[in-house]
Amino acid sequence: MAEKIKAGHVHMSGCTGCLVSVADNYEGLLKVLDDYVDWVYDLTLADVRHIPEMDVAFVEGSVCIDDHLSVEEILETRKKAKVVVALGGCAAYGNITRFCRGGQWNQPQHESYLPIGDIIDVDLYIPGCAPTPQQIRNVVVMAYLLLKGNDEQKTLAAQYLKPLMQLAERGTTACGCDVMYDIINQGLCMGCGSCAASCPVRAISMEYGKPNINRELCIKCGACYSQCPRSWYDSGIVDNYEAIMDAVDGALKVGE
Ligand code: SF4
Ligand code: SF4
Repeated sequence: MAEKIKAGHVHMSGCTGCLVSVADNYEGLLKVLDDYVDWVYDLTLADVRHIPEMDVAFVEGSVCIDDHLSVEEILETRKKAKVVVALGGCAAYGNITRFCRGGQWNQPQHESYLPIGDIIDVDLYIPGCAPTPQQIRNVVVMAYLLLKGNDEQKTLAAQYLKPLMQLAERGTTACGCDVMYDIINQGLCMGCGSCAASCPVRAISMEYGKPNINRELCIKCGACYSQCPRSWYDSGIVDNYEAIMDAVDGALKVGE
């Protein structure tokens, strides 16, 4: 088996829900840690004080720009990691932390939060609030296969990761209109209601099984977009879904 990749979790301003989602992989996580990944940095789980060199940094939460240590930490992460992943809606779009601007403060001195892509280049987004355990596990395994796998595995991994990279290229803002244009108008909405449930200002209501968005209320936090299971839909994945999932399952079975 090829050498493990080095990965870590960088905790900015978030609720730790994404890290809980990582841990919710249970024995799958142990398998990943046994065979594929050295988890070299994680302030919540390990006593490592300085950000080390990493292949992949999973960043949870947005950056409080009133706190210079947070800004330095995210800049340091970019320097030390070959690949930076925005783990979850707050890192990717600001999500609920955007709501802290203009009146709702966690702490009086912490008023302004930015998604990490407004400060550093980000390679890949894992959307969701929180992303599912499977999504995170799949990205970890696919990152390993992309960096260390054979040619076929590299092709599958690139296919799986491409739409997540495109999300990162798309930028750090998302609003209810994006849900309307990119998902509902494209015929992709399956009426699950996740967007309405995630909206912090109740700008979305479900009408006749589909989201109805009140643009006047929308604060452009991106929660609905990052929570929608269709927001990173890609037909390339659907066409090759079985081979991609077989690659993940196969990787997780090696050495069992
Ligand atoms: S509709 Fe709601 S969840 Fe979506 S971006 Fe606007 S405020 Fe955020
Ligand atoms: S989360 Fe996405 S798929 Fe679900 S109802 Fe909203 S727009 Fe439709």
